[in-house]
Amino acid sequence: MSDKSAIEWTDATWNPITGCSKVSPGCANCYAETLSLRFGWSQLPWHPANAEENVVQHPERLDQPAKWRQPRMIFVNSMSDIAHEQVEDAFVGRIWDQMRAAPQHTFQILTKRPARLADLARRFNDPPLPNVWLGTSVENDRWTRRVDDLRTAPAAARFISAEPLLGPLPSLDLTDIHWLIVGGESGVKHRPLDPDWARDLRDRATAQGVAFFFKQWGGRTPKAGGRELDGRTWDEMPLARLSVEAQEGSRGVLTDLAARSGGTLDIEMAAGLERLEGHGP
Ligand code: SF4
Repeated sequence: MSDKSAIEWTDATWNPITGCSKVSPGCANCYAETLSLRFGWSQLPWHPANAEENVVQHPERLDQPAKWRQPRMIFVNSMSDIAHEQVEDAFVGRIWDQMRAAPQHTFQILTKRPARLADLARRFNDPPLPNVWLGTSVENDRWTRRVDDLRTAPAAARFISAEPLLGPLPSLDLTDIHWLIVGGESGVKHRPLDPDWARDLRDRATAQGVAFFFKQWGGRTPKAGGRELDGRTWDEMPLARLSVEAQEGSRGVLTDLAARSGGTLDIEMAAGLERLEGHGP
């Protein structure tokens, strides 16, 4: 777990599971694997053959979010994939219990295995918790089918992380999607992001009322290319959760954040996405 309390608009990562294995081209330069091998958290490369050893459930970390009283955006398993086949259903159920017990936080779950995540959500997230967002990563057009699986998951908000974006996504269907994040790859082996791929996604998201967030161009470092697209930043947030909460008459994290930021959520979310820099799925 990471709690950068030095940042005024704090937010966090929570890793009750660590370790993963690679499933598609977006995993090639997995930052979570790089960190894990560098610091000795994993002994073996994140190859499927090593998954039994690399994927670890950490019951002792389950209650970490409950210790934070202030509302936070929490990225769940930034160093793993909650829907990895090595993760036990019962353990995911315990994660959901913690999220249910911490309505002050908003939990963001991102996977490259949305078919299993949807199964898990039907079991543990139906009816949907208003403070849990479910997302999937899509790096090229072949993997837009992940979004079809995500759409079947009961969720207050569904999002797509097109990062690292490795090609255009002409097949991407944004129906029932609330938020689209686009970003280029960073690191010494970064693969380039064509501006027209990002523009096309921005224009389609905007036309369909999907919140659009342009995270970064990428490069040798995350900030190397900046994060402006056509002369401005794009920091939109999904409004689905606010809508759900309004229907339920509750007041949650985003409402609080919106009030604190005068109705804009850019600063808080930019901080949150900084944390996604090392995000695996
Ligand atoms: S954490 Fe994500 S990027 Fe890394 S190997 Fe797993 S699915 Fe791929």
